[in-house]
Amino acid sequence: MERSWTEINLSNFEHNFNELKRFLRPGINTMQIVKADAYGHGAYQISRKAIACGAVSLGVANSDEGALLRYQGISVQILVLSPSLDHEIESIIEYDLTPSISYLDFAKSLNDYCRKRKIICKVHVNVDTGMGRSGFNLDKALVAYNQIKKMPNLKIEGIFSHYSASEENIEYTAHQKKVFNEFLDKLKELPPSVHIANSSAVINAADDFSTLVRIGLLSYGIYSDKSIHQLVDLRPVMSFKTRISLIKSAEYGESIGYNRTYIATEKVLYAILPIGYADGYDYLLSNKGYVLISGNLCPVIGRISMDMIAVNISGLDDVHVNDEVILLGEGHERLRAENITALYGGSCYEILCQIGRRAKRYYRENGSTIASSPLLRRDFVSFDYSDGKLNTIIEAAIEQRLQSKQIASLIYKDVLERLFTEKDQKIGYRRNFNHTIRFSETKIRDFQDYFQVNTSLTFTKKLQNDYFYVVCAKNELVLEKYFLRKDVEYRWLLNENFDLGKDFFDITDIRINKIELNTELKIVEGCLEIRCYHSQLADLVDQEVKFSISTRTYYPKNSHQVAVYLIEMTQGAEIQFIYDDLINNIEVVSIFSGKNRYPLISKESDRIKVTIPKDRWILPNSGVVFVY
Ligand SMILES: *Cc1c(COP(=O)(O)O)cnc(C)c1O
Repeated sequence: MERSWTEINLSNFEHNFNELKRFLRPGINTMQIVKADAYGHGAYQISRKAIACGAVSLGVANSDEGALLRYQGISVQILVLSPSLDHEIESIIEYDLTPSISYLDFAKSLNDYCRKRKIICKVHVNVDTGMGRSGFNLDKALVAYNQIKKMPNLKIEGIFSHYSASEENIEYTAHQKKVFNEFLDKLKELPPSVHIANSSAVINAADDFSTLVRIGLLSYGIYSDKSIHQLVDLRPVMSFKTRISLIKSAEYGESIGYNRTYIATEKVLYAILPIGYADGYDYLLSNKGYVLISGNLCPVIGRISMDMIAVNISGLDDVHVNDEVILLGEGHERLRAENITALYGGSCYEILCQIGRRAKRYYRENGSTIASSPLLRRDFVSFDYSDGKLNTIIEAAIEQRLQSKQIASLIYKDVLERLFTEKDQKIGYRRNFNHTIRFSETKIRDFQDYFQVNTSLTFTKKLQNDYFYVVCAKNELVLEKYFLRKDVEYRWLLNENFDLGKDFFDITDIRINKIELNTELKIVEGCLEIRCYHSQLADLVDQEVKFSISTRTYYPKNSHQVAVYLIEMTQGAEIQFIYDDLINNIEVVSIFSGKNRYPLISKESDRIKVTIPKDRWILPNSGVVFVY
C-alpha cells in the first residue's frame, strides 16, 4: 500500500491514440513522443502500447532516454528530438538512435565518427520555421541541408520543423506551415520522412506534405485548448491518488498551514493528505486546488507544504483516515491536468512530469492492473544491510517481477523467509544426507497387513542445542506444525490404526557422533515427542556433528507409496528403499526444484537408490515418493 501513487490508464491512452488517428490522411505515420519518461507516464509502457496501436517510431529528448528504451527491448526507430552533444554520439550509434541535426559541427563530428567505423547513420534535419529554438535558421537551412547531404556517412532520412503555438494561434501556425512548405519546395528531392505536426496540430493544422505526425500531449488525454473540446474526445491517462492521513478540525479564527494564509471563518473539518510540492503537487495550488473524496470536490486550504496539504471536508460525513483521494486525472472535470494548472496559470505538461517523478505507478488496462514501476530513487540500496531492509527489498523485487503480491508473498514466506529472516542466524544445512527405509515381513501374527519398517538416517549438521526431537504424529495436520520447529530432526507419520507409543514407533539407535543419546517420550496433542539429549552435547553446540537416527515402525501394505522429504537445505543425498522380494513394479517420483532436478536413480533386485552427488545442493521441500 502506498501513501500516494499514479494510475496510468492504458485503455484511455489507446482511446486517445485512436481519436487522433481519425484526423490523419491514410498513409500518414505516427511517432509517439515519450520524452521525459513519456511526460511522467512511463516511457517503456507507453511506448509498448503506442507501438501496439500503430506508432512506427518514438521521440525522446536525448540519447540517455533512447538508450534506456533499447535496454528495455524496444526496437522501433527512436528519434532524438533535441540537439545532441558530441559526447552522445557513441551511445547514439551503440543504441541505434536517430539523431536530429540542428547545427553543422555536430553533423561533421557524427560523420567523422561513422567514417572511422565504416558505418552510415540516418539523421533527421531540423529546420526552425518560427519556433526560435532548435533547428537551422531558415536562411541557412538550405546550404546546411545540402552540405549534410554530401557527408558520405550520414543519410538524411527526415526533415522536420516544430510548431510554436498550434493549440491556439491559427495564423502563426499557418505561417509556419507555409514557410516549411516553401522550404520543402526548394529541395530537389524530399527525404522519406517529412514532419512538423505535434498533437494539437493534428487537430488544428492538417497539411498535405507531411508523411508523419509527432503526437504527445493529446495522446495523454489533455485538451491543449478549449477550442478542440468539440472535435475530439480525450480521456486523462494519468491519475494521481493518495489517502487521508489525518482528520482534524479548526475553530473560528484558527489558522491552517504555513504563514497563516488560511484562517477559519467558521468551524471547519479538514483532512491532511500526505503529499506536497515535493510530490509534484504545485506550490501555486495553495488555497486554490481541489481534490476528490468519495465523489465530492474538496478545496485545498492553506499553503501546500513540501509533504502535506490540507483539504476542507466540512459537511462530509463518512470520511475516514485511509480513504482514497484523487488529486488529478480521472473522476471529475476539474481534476483534469489542464483545469488544475489553469488555477494558477501553470503548464499541464509540467505538472504531469512533476507528478510522474515521485509517485509509484500502476499501469491499468481494461480495469485491471497489468504492471507497475517503483519510485525513481537514486539511492535504492542504502548502506543499511539490516535484515529488515534486505527483506523488504527482496520481497519487493519478487513482487515487482511477478506483478503479484500474492504469489510473491507465497514464494517469499515459503522458501526465502526461512533462509533470510529468522532471527538467530543459525540456519541448519545438512550434508551427506543418507536415508534408508527397509521393508520386511513382520513376525507378529496380528500384523500381517503391515510391513515392518526399519529406517536409518545419517547426516552432518551444526548442532544447534544440547537436545533435539524426533516426532511421530498420527495425522498430517499435527505433523505440519513440527515442520516449522527447528529443534525437530526427524518426523514420521504413523498409520491411523496404531496408537502412539513405543510399540508402534520406536527409536532403535540414536547418536551424535559416537555418543549414544538418552531419550524421553511424551505424547502431546496427537504427537509422540521423543526428546533426545546427553550431557556431553553442550560442548558440541555450534560444531558440525554427525546425526544417526534409526527407528522401527510399521507400514500398511495397501498404502502403495512411501515418501521421503528433505525440508532443509541439503548438500548431497542418498535415499534408499530396500524391499527385498516383497514388492515388484516400483516407480520413483522425484520432486527436486532448482538446478538439479533429476537425481540419479538406480534399481537393483531388492532395492532402489536415489542419489544427488555430494557437492550438489538441494532446495528445501524436495523429496522422493516411491510408488508400488
Ligand atoms: C514534445 C514535442 C512534440 C510533442 O508535442 P505535443 O504538443 O505534446 O503533442 C512534438 N515534436 C517535438 C519536436 C517535441 O519536442
